[in-house]
Amino acid sequence: MNDICIPDLAVPRFENIDFSKVLTGPRRYLCLDLDNTLITQYGMDFAPQVLEKLEEIRSWDQLKDICLVSNVIFPGRRVSRLRVLADKLKIKNVVPCYFFGRKPKPAPYRKALSLMGSQPEETVFVGDQIFTDIVGANRLGFYTIWLMDRMSPDHWTTKMTGRRKKEDKIREVLKQRGLL
Ligand SMILES: [Mg+2]
Repeated sequence: MNDICIPDLAVPRFENIDFSKVLTGPRRYLCLDLDNTLITQYGMDFAPQVLEKLEEIRSWDQLKDICLVSNVIFPGRRVSRLRVLADKLKIKNVVPCYFFGRKPKPAPYRKALSLMGSQPEETVFVGDQIFTDIVGANRLGFYTIWLMDRMSPDHWTTKMTGRRKKEDKIREVLKQRGLL
């Protein structure tokens, strides 16, 4: 298994991340996927435990900035929803990723870094998909956290790819390496 597919950390859900161990040393910036990371696919309301977690880490001096990076694929409703949800979270840095610049391509990650003024080694990426979120972030040298529990069924564009089956193999590798 190519190590580019292996996250630095794997936990069930966002609220399970112990950020006191993650946001340490040079790591002061946070990039977050949206769907099935912070909220259900198509959802408009965040769970209280997600909001509480975000509020907690934002009160820390260690955290300098946050950016949302979401594959919207096509212009339209997914983009407007992303903007509305970013406003709800009071996150000003938002990278909507269209088809030709979608994760795991490097462009959206570079855009996020430039919006926050951060370097990859200072930045943590959290996402639910190995073959988009994690692979792209690993390539650039981010610290990566994979969320293993899906909050809701995937968008049809994800279902088409069969990537979730390959993620089961990653789980096995993580178990073999004692990371789970
Ligand atoms: Mg996602």
